[in-house]
Amino acid sequence: MKITGYRLEKYIYKIDRGLADANNPSGEDLSIGSLLFLETDEGVTGIAPAGNEKVQDLFKIIEGQDPRSVVWLWKKMDDFVFKGGNQGEAAAAISAIDVALWDLKAKINQEPLWQTLGARHGRTKAYASDIGYCMKDEDIYNFYSKMADNGVDAGKLKIGLSMEDDLRRIGIMKEALSKVRERPFLMVDVNEYWSPKNSIKLMNEIEKHYDIFWIEEPARRWDYRGLRKVSKSVKAAVATGENLNGISDVTSLITNYSVDIINIGVRQLGITGARQCANMAHAYELPVSMMNCQANYMAHLAAAIPNHVMMEVFGTPDREHVFKSWDNEIQDGFIVMGNSSGLGLEIDYDALRDLQNTDYGRIPNNSAPRRQGAGLEIKPLDENEVDWL
Ligand SMILES: [Mg+2]
Repeated sequence: MKITGYRLEKYIYKIDRGLADANNPSGEDLSIGSLLFLETDEGVTGIAPAGNEKVQDLFKIIEGQDPRSVVWLWKKMDDFVFKGGNQGEAAAAISAIDVALWDLKAKINQEPLWQTLGARHGRTKAYASDIGYCMKDEDIYNFYSKMADNGVDAGKLKIGLSMEDDLRRIGIMKEALSKVRERPFLMVDVNEYWSPKNSIKLMNEIEKHYDIFWIEEPARRWDYRGLRKVSKSVKAAVATGENLNGISDVTSLITNYSVDIINIGVRQLGITGARQCANMAHAYELPVSMMNCQANYMAHLAAAIPNHVMMEVFGTPDREHVFKSWDNEIQDGFIVMGNSSGLGLEIDYDALRDLQNTDYGRIPNNSAPRRQGAGLEIKPLDENEVDWL
């Protein structure tokens, strides 16, 4: 079997609410989506809900090759970008190709990807994640409450700009999740908005009121000394890693005792890179947590990682409207996958064309810029603030 072609389809989609964190508290409800299709001479097509223009250069490396040799192809692509490094847009393109190749491999095997990757069951524990700094108290309650109705007993909240608001909102999340478990797992995420010093000071205050399971990105992703200082000075575990580029970045954090839980994400790592990072963490007895992704498709890998604890779910269906189906659902607090081949993603091509022909009057900024003042001081939330762009 040979790889013969690819197709990259881009589109803009509207989410039913803004996505917001401390760097962009007012939120953004438009997003740019991509679908990468890898074609073969035997008519089987691999799909990844990702991809960018860098795929064009990388395709030359994999064209004509057998798609089943996924890890070898990943190495060839990793070597190809050698001097510039497997990072940024190049890493995102390699990741997209890698996901599409794994989808192909499982489809060729006529089995779900979780089985190809060696999982026993197609299931992994879920935690709810608001990505909703702009949400009102009532919306926060409703979001976690709906998740709790599906058995989810863990939640992560975006915080960082106001201690008063943060404490109140953590309490709302806790109350909603308490339906499932008297002491739900509570996590907070500041997306590198705080400095290490601020993280320690502010987390010590939060921990007077709540038992926090992990604090996510309390310092810059590469700041192993800052992260280590936070880890030593707060009760919560320090989690980071969703924006790292691969095992080399993760290794320096682990060997410097700077991280307690590794967040692994599909955007930069793909399935091959995420599995490498998870294995590295496993060697040091550290748990990993899979980052949120459209249609929760990375649950296939999460189910096959022995040191995986729980995966982030976002749960707003509007983000999934280019898919006809994705063959997984949240049941009793777990993402439960079915037996469809590959990732189980079925594309709704009519919906895709509609989105591609929709004019929203503006192009969203998907680069998620860091907010002015981040790492320097605590800026109060100003509802009228739009200078993050
Ligand atoms: Mg995060």
